[in-house]
Amino acid sequence: MTSQDTVRSRVGGVTPVVYSSGQSRCTISEVAKITQQKDGCVKIHYTLALTQPAQHLLDVTVDVAAASGEFVDFVLPTWTPGSYLIREYARHVQEVEATVNGEPVAWRKLDKQTWRVETRGATEVQLRYRVYGNELTVRTNHVDDTHAHVIPAATFMYVVGATEQPLTVEVEPPAGWEVATGLDRDGAGYFVADDFDQLVDSPFEIGTHRTLSFEVEGKPHRIVIWGAGNEDEQRLVVDTRTIVSAARDLFGGLPYAHYTFFLLLGGKDASGGLEHRNSTSLLLPRFVFRPDKSYERFLTLVSHEFFHVWNVKRMRAAGLGPFDYTREAYTTLLWAMEGITEYYTDLLLVRSGLLTPKRYLERLADDIVTLQTTPGRQLQSLECASFDSWIKFYRPDENTPNTAVSYYLKGAIVGALLDLEIRRRTADERSLDDVLRQLYAAYPLDGPGIPEREGYLGAIREVTGHDFGDFFARYIGGTAELPYTETLGAAGLELQWDWKDKAADGGARPALGLRTKSEGGLLKVTGVVRDAPAYQAGLTADDELVAVDGYRISNEASLRERLHERKVGDRVTITLFRRDELRTVELTLAPAPQDKLVLQPVGEPDELQRRIYTSWLGIDAAAQGAAAEA
Ligand SMILES: [Zn+2]
Repeated sequence: MTSQDTVRSRVGGVTPVVYSSGQSRCTISEVAKITQQKDGCVKIHYTLALTQPAQHLLDVTVDVAAASGEFVDFVLPTWTPGSYLIREYARHVQEVEATVNGEPVAWRKLDKQTWRVETRGATEVQLRYRVYGNELTVRTNHVDDTHAHVIPAATFMYVVGATEQPLTVEVEPPAGWEVATGLDRDGAGYFVADDFDQLVDSPFEIGTHRTLSFEVEGKPHRIVIWGAGNEDEQRLVVDTRTIVSAARDLFGGLPYAHYTFFLLLGGKDASGGLEHRNSTSLLLPRFVFRPDKSYERFLTLVSHEFFHVWNVKRMRAAGLGPFDYTREAYTTLLWAMEGITEYYTDLLLVRSGLLTPKRYLERLADDIVTLQTTPGRQLQSLECASFDSWIKFYRPDENTPNTAVSYYLKGAIVGALLDLEIRRRTADERSLDDVLRQLYAAYPLDGPGIPEREGYLGAIREVTGHDFGDFFARYIGGTAELPYTETLGAAGLELQWDWKDKAADGGARPALGLRTKSEGGLLKVTGVVRDAPAYQAGLTADDELVAVDGYRISNEASLRERLHERKVGDRVTITLFRRDELRTVELTLAPAPQDKLVLQPVGEPDELQRRIYTSWLGIDAAAQGAAAEA
């Protein structure tokens, strides 16, 4: 991080003001000079207490020493890195009090997230407030009578102009509770962060958690578990260590002194992961660990979030930092930050033996089916999906599948195709692994970050000697259909498309192009597939379907039964309620799209196809030959 970048990132947000001894209010042009001087500047100390955890409250105190000037501005971030949505954390702040040199003073708000305390030259300023946290996700605070999972961006206000200052955090847990975080402690027992960014990157788990430990490369790793379910502790340790080792092997070395996996076990809908520099928060249902297919959710979550140690936390898009926590951070590279990570999520698992190659290909095929049955792929490119994540990906509605594409899903598929295309053009001499290592070397964390599109293109050119400009223009900047056949063919795979459910003649069933859900005895429309019969007939989300050709339907099964009696091209009448008004629409049934895909090895792969397949999935060629003979 450079001070110049800090100035740039602040312009347009809250006016920069820096406090340091002997300095009064600074202008923008002075900020760069002052933020380079870490000594002689303000001292910031946070105290985090839990006096009423059952009421979901965190008690926060910010002490600012050696302040100077007319006022100090405190800002609570509005979003947290890794989750690209304006979350308005300040709405959970309550009971704000300020003191100056120990005397209570008034504060005033400058905007939704900024509190100004007038100091009039006094040097000791304290702001106390409480934060309500009762939302169990990995990007919001969750505090109750069993624990607190503290998301720093949602909790700690920064001092404007002093975000590059080192700071300390003191935690006062209830009796019997312990504190786990990725931050180290100083001699006084306080947690220390080099700057506000590092604090934001270090969630806290405070409670009576279990801790499992292991080492890789002699570096301590721990799994801190809140809650319990059907987990096998020994298996968690062995498999997590395997994933850490696989990522280490790819990048060569672990870029931290220690690492913490926070594993939060909640109810059946619990889901999510958020990456940090030397920790990650993982949220899963408590009974996710059996059977094996369900356990894949744990493995893939660990693999995904751990891959971010490099991709995004250290190899970051230029748009992702230094952060302005008051507003959106734009980049067209989320497809690479998240999609490439999603690609390697499964790849590391298959290479390290935690997924079989067969299962790997099934999961890839399922992703391809999902993308190819999402009409939005024809309207929104990966770069646009990345840029608009703030208003689209994180805020989906019934129109989303028709107009948007997930940069996770399509990014992962494009990652696979890009990897195979690199291997094809270089006769398997180079791969996406080499490109990532090149990016990691070329764009260190303290540099400007990976430039949009050209950063990746340049690294690929450097590694392969080939220009991928056309590939990027078509499949990443554009919405061209992906070149599955030729690219998967490079690994000796062919695509066999089919239907999960076929008509008696082996062809397509008739379809309306509706997404529905049964709710309270009603069959409700949740979405309509663009250009499908229901779309053309004007059916829409929230319509309540009651009959097909005059016969009652009350759930998905009865709708399916009625449709299965008809064939493609037939006219049918649908009766529905819309805002309590009975309506009838006529439409013509279309063929259902193919929704089943098998990636099948070609009959007789050539030498290069064989080589690409085995090196891509990390399959030991000798073992494979022995297995084939057996
Ligand atoms: Zn991610």
